[in-house]
Amino acid sequence: MTYNLNSNVIYIKVTVLKLHLYIQYLKNNRMKAAVFKGMNLPLEIREVPTPFPRGDEILIRVASTGICHSDLHLINGELIGPLPEGFIIGHEIAGWVEEFASNVKNPYELRKGDPVLVSWIVPCGICKYCASGKENYCKQNASKMVGIIGINGGHAEYVSVPEIAVIPLGKKIDPYYSSPIACAYGTAYNALKSAKATSGKSVVIIGAGGVGSAAIQLANAMGLNPIIAVDIIQSKLEKAKELGATHAINALADDSRAKILEILEEGADIVYETKPNPDLKLSLEVVKAGGSIVVTGLGGFTNIAEIPITLFVSKGITLIGSLGYRPRIDLPELVSLASSGKIDTKKLVTHVYEPERINEAYENLKKGIHIRAVVKWN
Ligand SMILES: [Zn+2]
Ligand SMILES: [Zn+2]
Repeated sequence: MTYNLNSNVIYIKVTVLKLHLYIQYLKNNRMKAAVFKGMNLPLEIREVPTPFPRGDEILIRVASTGICHSDLHLINGELIGPLPEGFIIGHEIAGWVEEFASNVKNPYELRKGDPVLVSWIVPCGICKYCASGKENYCKQNASKMVGIIGINGGHAEYVSVPEIAVIPLGKKIDPYYSSPIACAYGTAYNALKSAKATSGKSVVIIGAGGVGSAAIQLANAMGLNPIIAVDIIQSKLEKAKELGATHAINALADDSRAKILEILEEGADIVYETKPNPDLKLSLEVVKAGGSIVVTGLGGFTNIAEIPITLFVSKGITLIGSLGYRPRIDLPELVSLASSGKIDTKKLVTHVYEPERINEAYENLKKGIHIRAVVKWN
């Protein structure tokens, strides 16, 4: 009895000490973050407690976080409904390992300071989707996605995430320019693979923003030909050619349908519509019989596309929706492509912002000024 009493006292003392240390940690460890204020933009740059890694989490010192179009849908409540006040967005993250929580298994044998990517998709690892390699459709997505729902994101100096979402970046790529692998490239890569993109197939890429430009680089690396880029902003089309597009069509200046069919009489094997609000109009007109259309833009709840059914059926079109990427499959493959120079993330990142200019970055995103922009946090 005495023994039990003593052990209880020791347990309580240890718990109080842990709590005390945790409170001290929160007091001493503050970081800069862009915080959602509860009403669209602007985000507020302010000091908040540095997250404390718990359970299976790894604390990451953030190098850069991408400015993604999906953030605009997220911020205005169109993606998953209203965001909680105080939430930190930013789902395209690269940085360095800072600290491991006690239950981390560390399968990649990461050490403090190692460069890593953070996946916004956090697979549970055990559901039927995860078990069958479709972890982008993991049931856990409904409650946990880094910088989107349930887990604060990377628009901050530090982010703490479950280790399953942490993928090694290797030493050959610069973390300041590689965050787009964790959304733009991942999304484009999984979409192209979903559409069975292989060497020699033709592809039309509609929209030459971040995801579209990543898709152009990847299509080039995968040997697709021709690669026809369509956009309405001339500077993006110039960039598309630099990234590997064989043709660039301005949909405002030209009849893009006619131009594409001049190049590909029967239409394209694959049409990848990368627009944030896909409408499928041009895609359905320029895909060849038996071809595939793939879309990844999340649009918003109100985004509806109309499909002329006779055209759809008579051409035997395959329409593919593709969400994000498979973090443990696609991200290591992309790191390998970037490490070997087959894709160049530095060419995609056209703008680097300091945290204090993050709202300007989102305003410039709306104006179509960037290919991909990142915010540099450390
Ligand atoms: Zn994104
Ligand atoms: Zn799962």
